[in-house]
Amino acid sequence: MEPSDVLIIGAGISGLICATELKATGHSVRLLDKGRGVGGRMATRQMAGGRLDHGAQYFTVRDPRLQAYVDVWLEAGVIKKWFTHLPEDSSPEGYPRYCGVQGMTDVPKFLARDLELHNSQQVTELSRDSDLWIARTATGDSFLARHLVVTAPLPQALNLLDTSGLRYANGDAEALRAVCYERGLAALLVLRGPSGLAKPGGRKIHSGPLTWMADNQQKGISPELTTVTLHASAEFADAHWDSSDAVRGPLMLAAAAPYLQSEVMECSCHRWGFTRPVNPWPEPYYQNAGLQLTLAGDSFGGARVEGAVLSGIEAAAAVGLARAEATIGSVASLD
Ligand SMILES: Cc1cc2nc3c(=O)[nH]c(=O)nc-3n(C[C@H](O)[C@H](O)[C@H](O)COP(=O)(O)OP(=O)(O)OC[C@H]3O[C@@H](n4cnc5c(N)ncnc54)[C@H](O)[C@@H]3O)c2cc1C
Repeated sequence: MEPSDVLIIGAGISGLICATELKATGHSVRLLDKGRGVGGRMATRQMAGGRLDHGAQYFTVRDPRLQAYVDVWLEAGVIKKWFTHLPEDSSPEGYPRYCGVQGMTDVPKFLARDLELHNSQQVTELSRDSDLWIARTATGDSFLARHLVVTAPLPQALNLLDTSGLRYANGDAEALRAVCYERGLAALLVLRGPSGLAKPGGRKIHSGPLTWMADNQQKGISPELTTVTLHASAEFADAHWDSSDAVRGPLMLAAAAPYLQSEVMECSCHRWGFTRPVNPWPEPYYQNAGLQLTLAGDSFGGARVEGAVLSGIEAAAAVGLARAEATIGSVASLD
């Protein structure tokens, strides 16, 4: 396989946006993701004939650069406004909350349709040979590129980069290692009838094990069947990380019961090792231009989907500059 200009590890929203921007400026880009689908934490799952968003529930827009993408996604019918505020919000922020028309993976799928993406490719080892990065995957494949972008959550990205044996952190190793994430637990429910949650079907919860519940039927992504997503607090996720579903499921169900009017027919739990960076890196990306290496994702600049998108945009611009400087450098050395 020919080396690409850029290899991006991670087809979450930051990697997909970074790839889109780089492709638009003429770079050849290849994306690798360990998952079978795209979107990372913008995740939608089928269950018993219904559909649930079990990671990010919606996203907001404050920056015009994301707004420009949102205008395209609205026009293409990929996303819709879910709500602007919830009934229990005492001081509604007034930002529209957007979601995919059929689930949160709609936007990642839409972005991926024009990109070279290799799924089920978990990168396990990185190295550099002269001017090329080599990413080896669990399937035994190797991918070569002139510039490497890693968009996995920073703790995972650093573990991967350590396999290269390179000094990639420019003296920032300790500070990069200090970036840490909260963990999360989701419970995915199939109900016999309507949930009973008030319109628009989302509810923030401020005490006990839960922080959020959402009726995916009212959201519009599970028209045939009522499915409900429960999110637990970081404290509950930590306390029950290693509990069995038979223990943590009923605890989350008991906390949801006062809000639900129909019988729960199925319940399954999902662990999220990385929900929100507690102390994100203050810049929107990290770069070692000498090594042609850029790190991006929601670890950088800001949490949430919007933070990840902006990191992808800024990282792409920085990759373009680093590639241009490397090209000028190699032409100068020929002279
Ligand atoms: C439970 C939960 C609820 C959330 N709710 C919201 C919300 O309501 N609103 C909001 O704005 N944000 C929310 N977020 C946060 C939001 O989902 C993230 O900020 C955003 O999706 C991060 O995108 P990303 O591209 O940076 O990372 P990710 O989506 O994590 O993408 C990284 C990708 O890298 C891949 N990867 C990792 N390691 C490797 C490897 N070695 N080889 C190959 N591939 C690899 C992963 O498979 C993944 O697809 C929530 C997150 C969670 C978990």
